[in-house]
Amino acid sequence: MATGGERDPKRQKPSAPVDGGVAAKEVSGSGGPAMALNLTVANADALHCVVCSLPLKPPIFQCDEGYMVCSPCSDKLKGAGGKCHVCGVAMAGGYRRCHGMERLVDSLRAACPNAAYGCAATPPYHGREEHIRACPHPQCYCPGEACGFAGSTAALRDHIASAHGWPYRREPWSRSSFNMNLRDGFNFVVSAKDDLFLLNVTRHAFFRTVSVVCIRPRAAVAEQKILELQLSFEYGYYSSGSNALFKYDQKARFPVAYSDLSDGLTDFNDNHQLILLNKCVRGHEVDKDMEILIEIFYEEDL
Ligand SMILES: [Zn+2]
Ligand SMILES: [Zn+2]
Ligand SMILES: [Zn+2]
Ligand SMILES: [Zn+2]
Repeated sequence: MATGGERDPKRQKPSAPVDGGVAAKEVSGSGGPAMALNLTVANADALHCVVCSLPLKPPIFQCDEGYMVCSPCSDKLKGAGGKCHVCGVAMAGGYRRCHGMERLVDSLRAACPNAAYGCAATPPYHGREEHIRACPHPQCYCPGEACGFAGSTAALRDHIASAHGWPYRREPWSRSSFNMNLRDGFNFVVSAKDDLFLLNVTRHAFFRTVSVVCIRPRAAVAEQKILELQLSFEYGYYSSGSNALFKYDQKARFPVAYSDLSDGLTDFNDNHQLILLNKCVRGHEVDKDMEILIEIFYEEDL
């Protein structure tokens, strides 16, 4: 029996929350008692900045009417004539820190979705995405024959960029379209948001196919939103001695499948793919690269 200000030991061990549940847990330095609850956040907007919609994380600021904005958004006030850019109320002193909300968002913690794979982390809601991207516990696998490398998404990215000599290209910035020379076999693209894509070029008798899979750990796959890729190919020339134009354009845009490649390179031919006639790809007879224009679309950007 706990006495004299000691904490009840039962209260210090938060139970694992159910899927989607949020456990309130002691934050180091906060000094308060932990409390394990399975919570549902009925209105997730309450945890997001009203201006940019990103999860609120310290430092958090509020106007005189109590509207809360994140730190980068509060900085924009400096160009807004001293008015709250949510409700328009004039604020002589600008936005003020909201320490209560900071304590709250740091206290709302949920188990990492990789808990089943041994991750004991309980990141705060605002750090959840960041943790999942960096979490060392889930694994995805190198598709190289007899390679056997497995690791986090970040480790696999580094491995693929250096270990096998496969074509590797990084999206310059979000929603940019960029060219890449694809070879037969494996080609890799990393999006500006650090997702890793395998573009597999397979040669057939009269045509070749480009299929795509996004390599992500299994736990993260469950949380993924729709992701689309657009592949475009253009080829044209004027035949010598005349102005007759030959032109061949192909474009395919489709949702991308996810895999951690733990089952090896499963057959992605059932998925959508870009199909190109061999005779319309420059240098088809000498096994040259083909230049493809790539665009990546995330659901939140559409
Ligand atoms: Zn904001
Ligand atoms: Zn306001
Ligand atoms: Zn984790
Ligand atoms: Zn490998």
